[in-house]
Amino acid sequence: MSSDCLFCNIVERSVPATIVHETGSVLAFRDINPQAPTHVLVIPKAHHVDAASMAAADPALAGEVLNVAGTVAADDGVDAAGYRLVFNTGKDGQQTVFHAHCHVLGGRGMEWPPG
Ligand code: 5GP
Ligand code: ZN
Repeated sequence: MSSDCLFCNIVERSVPATIVHETGSVLAFRDINPQAPTHVLVIPKAHHVDAASMAAADPALAGEVLNVAGTVAADDGVDAAGYRLVFNTGKDGQQTVFHAHCHVLGGRGMEWPPG
């Protein structure tokens, strides 16, 4: 836990968030600036800077993040129509919060290629 990390502070409940799912190691909450009708962030409770770092350090935890992403999509009713999972990574990936997170985006048709 890093006290200057926004998502660590959400895990610690010192920053409020609309939490939609929680396990022992993973937290899911709605994005504050949603880009689709469903826009949930799924994060490991432990601090890892990005998805690849998380997977290298703890593959089971990376699997749990993906498992919760699927649960969140089903709970929001977007699984049948389809949805998108995104891990922005680094500067060119437009990552702005350096605590690994999976965006779950759904409820509208997505475009490809992404911007
Ligand atoms: P990134 O750009 O790093 O892939 O995604 C970071 C996401 O965190 C953005 O979609 C942004 O809207 C979201 N975000 C930033 N600050 C907060 C906050 O305080 N609460 C919540 N729920 N989401 C946030
Ligand atoms: Zn953190």
